[in-house]
Amino acid sequence: MTATAQSYVCGVSDTPLIYQTIGRALDEAVRRFGDRPALIVRRQNLRMTYAAFASAVDDFAAGLVALGLQTGDRIGIWSPNNAEWVIAQFATARLGLILVNINPAYRTSELEYVLNKVGARALILARSFKTSDYVGMLGSIGAHKLPQLEQAIVISDAPVEGYRRFADISALATPALRERVREIGDTLSPDDPVNIQFTSGTTGFPKGATLTHSNILNNGRFVGARQRFTEDDRLCIPVPLYHCFGMVMAVLACVTHGAAMVFPDEAFDPASVLDAIEQERCTALYGVPTMFIAELDHPSFKGRDLSSLRTGVMAGAPCPEAVMRRVISDMHMRDVTICYGMTETSPVSFQSLPDDDLEKRVSTVGAIHPYVEVKIIDAEGRITPRGTQGELLTRGYSVMRGYWGDAEKTRESIDEGGWMHTGDLAVMGDDGYCRITGRVKDMIIRGGENVYPREIEEFLYTHPAVMDVQVFGVPDEKYGEEVCAWIRLHDGAAIVDEEIRAFCKSRIAHYKVPRYIRFVGEFPMTVTGKIQKFVMRDAMTKELSAPKASAG
Ligand code: AMP
Repeated sequence: MTATAQSYVCGVSDTPLIYQTIGRALDEAVRRFGDRPALIVRRQNLRMTYAAFASAVDDFAAGLVALGLQTGDRIGIWSPNNAEWVIAQFATARLGLILVNINPAYRTSELEYVLNKVGARALILARSFKTSDYVGMLGSIGAHKLPQLEQAIVISDAPVEGYRRFADISALATPALRERVREIGDTLSPDDPVNIQFTSGTTGFPKGATLTHSNILNNGRFVGARQRFTEDDRLCIPVPLYHCFGMVMAVLACVTHGAAMVFPDEAFDPASVLDAIEQERCTALYGVPTMFIAELDHPSFKGRDLSSLRTGVMAGAPCPEAVMRRVISDMHMRDVTICYGMTETSPVSFQSLPDDDLEKRVSTVGAIHPYVEVKIIDAEGRITPRGTQGELLTRGYSVMRGYWGDAEKTRESIDEGGWMHTGDLAVMGDDGYCRITGRVKDMIIRGGENVYPREIEEFLYTHPAVMDVQVFGVPDEKYGEEVCAWIRLHDGAAIVDEEIRAFCKSRIAHYKVPRYIRFVGEFPMTVTGKIQKFVMRDAMTKELSAPKASAG
């Protein structure tokens, strides 16, 4: 195999990596863009320039020093999107505290697990969100079950009994404490951990991916660079801050380019996104495919003026071609990019270029990011030839430190060569662009045949009644595993499973034809719009093992 025929790419750039802490990057933003808009939070009616934002960051950081928090301490944040979240992100980074992102959808047992796993000394929490009474839930866990947690800071305008509020902490700032914040900043290294993000979503038990200043600052900067961000850009951010998509790809991309961060709401709502784009004249928009679909389908979409939009990112899941076409034509996002990555790699490894043609933007995840290496390996660990599917591995500045307090899981994920094993299946083309073709763990082994769910899904999409489909394996006595499909039909479509099977019969191999088919209204999803196949698998396994379960 010649070198070029191997599934290996390495990203290059004219711009070197920056070896800086996040605190220093904020100083630079203030120096270059001090009077430019930094933060617009519509729900809170709040607008800050970079200078005002940095001042709010310093006040809160000074307050955290007053509380006795020290470099290296872990501090949790459990809140939907708001100004305090972004201020806390930079205030903690300024002090070298490690911010632990907690999913707003978590309930008590998950909260207890993650706080204890990282030994958090403090927690910043919203008063409540949707049906979650955060203060009530924290209280119900009981202090004895959270032995390391010393402080809780609540985000609330009104007083909350027994709690100090975010604003009360900022009010502790004095000139001396602010000076102390500066001194602490001088002692930090870009290689220090600054953030822990629990990844579970599609695979079960949460693991704390630990990321450094250098990891996420550089990644955010390159994500912005590929969209050609400048201080004239205004990014609409409906994606959650607790995930890399929000705090890295959005927040750090803006701060490193002086662009404005526009938060339409505390959580995703298509109408507030459309309002924010129109009223703030946003130039860029982020989202997972399901968010773009909801915006395009909104009853008010037609009358909207979205002509200010130019670019943005669609990521997290494969983008359907029809959606991409409408995002470009009806939302005016001609330079929209596709990103692929995972939390453990800060997160982005591939991103399309604004001028890649539509075909490339829908069928691949784009070109390799600067200073990142990717290779694709087969089941024996050998590099595959281009065009051959295998597992995608990533190496470079972007690979996390490891999973917090879990050396074994870290060793299972990052090999001795420094490669992060993503668990994603991919094919690399001759041009180095990659297609994501499934998950290693999703692969179904039916009677010794490897079945790739993605392939069957793509096929079932071609049936006119099928709107959306998910394929996965369920345990089977005879074959080890059997193929199961959950299907969402188009409105008004009436069809039975036998018709689906008949449609498959002459077109795909018999062992790929789903043995079990269910028609459902929706799929189980994480807050970030990722489909949870393990939930479907569990439900089906239960159903099939119940007495008198019948096939199909
Ligand atoms: P997370 O760590 O939550 O960001 O999830 C990362 C996973 O999302 C990856 O390992 C992929 O399985 C999936 N993913 C991310 N971006 C894409 C994309 N553009 N296309 C397909 N799958 C993606």
